[in-house]
Amino acid sequence: MTVRKRVDVRVEGVVQGVGFRPFVYSLASRLGLAGRVRNDVEGVFIEVEGALAGVEEFLTALERDAPALSEIESVTVVSGAPAGHRGFTITAGDPAGPRRALVPADLATCDDCLRELADPAGRRHRYPFVACANCGPRFTVVRGVPFDRLLTTMAGFAMCADCSAEYHDPGDRHFRAEPTCCPACGPSLRLLDARGADLCGDPIAACASLLRAGRVVAVKGLGGFHLAVPAAHQEAAAALRARKHRAEKPFAVMVADLDQARRLCAVDGQAAELLTGRARPVVLLPRLPGAPVADAVAPGRRDLGLMLPYTPLHHLLLRELAEPMVLTGGNVCDEPIAHEDADAVTRLGGIADAFLVHDRAIHVRADDSVLRPWSGGHTVLRRARGHAPEPLTLRRPAPRPVLACGAELGSTFCLVRGRRAFLSQHLGDLDDQETLRSFVEGIDHFCGLFDIRPEVVAHDLDPGYLSTRHALELTGVELVGVQHHHAHIASCLADNGETGPVIGVALDGPAHGLDGTLWGGEFLRADLASCTRLGHLALVPMPGGAAAVRQPWRMAAAYLRDEHPGLDVVRRNAAHWPDVLARTRTGVGAPMTSSAGPLFDAVSALLGIRDTVTYEGQAAAELEQRADPAETGSYAATITEGDLLVVHAADLVRAAAADVAAGIDPGTIAGRFHNGVADAVVRCCVMLRDGTGLNTTALSGAVLQNALLLERTVERLRAAGFRVLTHTRVPPGDGGLSLGQAAVAAARDRST
Ligand SMILES: [Zn+2]
Ligand SMILES: [Zn+2]
Repeated sequence: MTVRKRVDVRVEGVVQGVGFRPFVYSLASRLGLAGRVRNDVEGVFIEVEGALAGVEEFLTALERDAPALSEIESVTVVSGAPAGHRGFTITAGDPAGPRRALVPADLATCDDCLRELADPAGRRHRYPFVACANCGPRFTVVRGVPFDRLLTTMAGFAMCADCSAEYHDPGDRHFRAEPTCCPACGPSLRLLDARGADLCGDPIAACASLLRAGRVVAVKGLGGFHLAVPAAHQEAAAALRARKHRAEKPFAVMVADLDQARRLCAVDGQAAELLTGRARPVVLLPRLPGAPVADAVAPGRRDLGLMLPYTPLHHLLLRELAEPMVLTGGNVCDEPIAHEDADAVTRLGGIADAFLVHDRAIHVRADDSVLRPWSGGHTVLRRARGHAPEPLTLRRPAPRPVLACGAELGSTFCLVRGRRAFLSQHLGDLDDQETLRSFVEGIDHFCGLFDIRPEVVAHDLDPGYLSTRHALELTGVELVGVQHHHAHIASCLADNGETGPVIGVALDGPAHGLDGTLWGGEFLRADLASCTRLGHLALVPMPGGAAAVRQPWRMAAAYLRDEHPGLDVVRRNAAHWPDVLARTRTGVGAPMTSSAGPLFDAVSALLGIRDTVTYEGQAAAELEQRADPAETGSYAATITEGDLLVVHAADLVRAAAADVAAGIDPGTIAGRFHNGVADAVVRCCVMLRDGTGLNTTALSGAVLQNALLLERTVERLRAAGFRVLTHTRVPPGDGGLSLGQAAVAAARDRST
């Protein structure tokens, strides 16, 4: 007689909405086991019984063969007496109790669904809302948990008999696929003119012909509206840029497949992997010379942001258009992208000539995620669609639930319960009313989805940040202020599942320091709970404060003072140069900063690349784009030792100015400058290693979005024997700040 065994298995992680129960069902059936599986608030719960060997094989295969889109965090197994189950069944979810199940991120259309989309004999031929248990909308359509159709924006679409049969068939890939539907029962597509009136004809074909004719079309995507034009169409791209009031910030381009991508950019194995990853992010890649892309798409840049289609609608549209198309956020300037149909027609009315819309509502807005590969991996510039709201796992649990409010620009928030850190999608700049509203509503939505009531609230020390003000207005919570650059280093630690201590190098824009100056070029001894300043870039005045951010030439003046009066940058800005110099001398209206951001701005202006900017970080980004990556020369900065190490970065600017005066090529100078900054960072770290005994460095801050600087710094640190931590899952800029704040608050809560 065979020994019968029964186990109860609890699986936690991203296991709902990813085809997990059908996988369990077929696994148990194949092994001849009986029992049942259901979704509940904790994740997935399985009761399984049968021959001992079968149950053991089941437990092994459960983790080994789990669906590709699932992410198992823990499996807990409890043995019990066999209950006499006959056969294996999938039972209904249980909406009671605390809501703990994880909501998956939106998933790119799977190959099976693409085949269905292309099958003329099938009932979903060319149907733009094809989805199954392995793909389709998730986070952006979820109103509540558990993940169930009634709690999504698909609730209003009652399934037809055919869809319902598939939905209830455990052997079908549409089994319990909440967004499944077909032309008979699901959403439908419409093409509207600029005033919102219906245009006749097949919406996809008509939309493609409008695009080919150079019209701007607003396309409703997964997490919001995009604006589309053919990528090679000079007039259309220029018109889009002019109407969007977006002077120079680059547009992303969607390509049908990797072949099309390779016609525009250098796509190596790593890039192909990032492009085809399940999140389908925008990937910044080196543009090929002569690539057929309109000038207005990414002016001043050697790279180009590419992405592959991630919804059936995108696949259909690109096939019809048969060429790459610009797909940029459906907004004016930097306000949040539109995600509601009526709002889109109102707000985008002056930009779009037509609207491709549908009646599946977007509950939560999510921009495209943006990644940038570099020689040592990739940097996340924007974490949004395809990643949010999936949690990061902290090394150690938070004793009490934490909310971290993040920064001001490119903001995110983060909620922590136990070891799970739920980082919001990129929200945008909080100084915009609409963004501020999505910040406040987003926090409520996440608290509801993940059943978190924050008891500890972390915030930046800058009282002017709207995120700080939001934190300070909350009552009945414990507030934890976290210095900006400590939060960046903590974010890098959390990104790597580490706790420190490390030598933290924060190269960042100017932000609130602890001594009345603006920090941002900092060497810190940091662990999660605490942080000590060990060194920094020498202070310089920022003449005009915020004006110096918009006008990088002011930083050139602040660094150069009266030296090199014959330089072009002085001549170009002669009218205001003396005033600005006077400000740097008196210090009136010229806050002092140790930030690395303005240093890059100064050199960008000095080289004639950017005197003024139209978006944040533009001068530094274009300086990097111009730098000759083959340049091995370097400028040297003096480092002085006192209580703190001080890097005299003005030496780098002076050396660059001397090369400019000598007529050296700007690309060479930019290359030498990048190498010089990396060299200075490494020399400081070596000096600090001697003093602290720490051999691990953590690199963070917005300036390290610069792939060339990151690469040069990491290479040199490793050559000097350091272990180097960089960001891979969250942005080094302010988009990752809330994770760091949360990690600090949790660590301090543990130590009290
Ligand atoms: Zn699918
Ligand atoms: Zn149907």
